[in-house]
Amino acid sequence: MSGPMADDHGEVNVEIAEAHRATVGVSEVRRLLPRRERRTVGAWCFLDHYGPSDDAVPAIGPHPHLGLQTVTWLLDGEVLHRDTLGSEQVIRPGQLNLMTAGHGIAHAEELGPAGITRAHGVQLWVAQPDETRDGAPAFEHHGELPAVDLPGADAMVLIGSLAGATSAARADTDHVGYQLDLHGTCELPLTEAHEYALAPLDDVAVAIDGRPVAPDQVAYLAPGRGSVTLTAVDGDSGRCRVLVLGGEPWDVRVSMWWNFVGRDHDELTRGFEDWQRDDERFGTVASDLARIAAPRPPWLR
Ligand code: MN
Repeated sequence: MSGPMADDHGEVNVEIAEAHRATVGVSEVRRLLPRRERRTVGAWCFLDHYGPSDDAVPAIGPHPHLGLQTVTWLLDGEVLHRDTLGSEQVIRPGQLNLMTAGHGIAHAEELGPAGITRAHGVQLWVAQPDETRDGAPAFEHHGELPAVDLPGADAMVLIGSLAGATSAARADTDHVGYQLDLHGTCELPLTEAHEYALAPLDDVAVAIDGRPVAPDQVAYLAPGRGSVTLTAVDGDSGRCRVLVLGGEPWDVRVSMWWNFVGRDHDELTRGFEDWQRDDERFGTVASDLARIAAPRPPWLR
């Protein structure tokens, strides 16, 4: 795919890409980041969109992370989070779980107390900068997030700021995350220094600067824009939500493997070996679910 090009009006074009299908546990997901052409958008380095499903088993046993933050955002359903810091937190739609791995953490996701098996949401990762990526792990739950009324859309601010409203969620780099609930045409203000990824969250296409973007696609906007126009293409079929991720472009070369983000294979190999020998680096999760073994890194075969 070619990069963004300026059109006759000097606007930066919208770059549209297809999701690729991946399997996580027993569920099929739409993977929208990373893509070969775009490894990161700001510090955002991973975006899976799963569901909606009526009979999913929202459970994944203890597994480690390092060098990244996991951002959990539900559109439906309920999940119980447990981690090696002792956190035990139910998350529901409209709430944010933000887990910072730093030098190492492990967590499990279990069926929530209401036993809801519907599952719809996104799993996001943010790569940590050098200043914090070897630091202490942490966990935050945000039960309420700032809401912003924009013409044509109700917005929720997951991370960063929008139209004067700022999320309390930790941000180690200059990046933002919003959910927009479109009910017309919305001129979304953008930060010119940021690049953006926009992904429809419902089974409805969204017009981005007049170009339809389907639910299994993602739109990329290069830096240099002050706004973008979003319109629900078929608002009759229900809600029309859009995820907006943005941030200052990263010139850091990120190395990703399994659940780890680092800078080179040696770091990832150490993470693999530490998890396989149950090193205290990742701690112990109080979960009845089975611990997930790491696959062998392909460069060690
Ligand atoms: Mn995880």
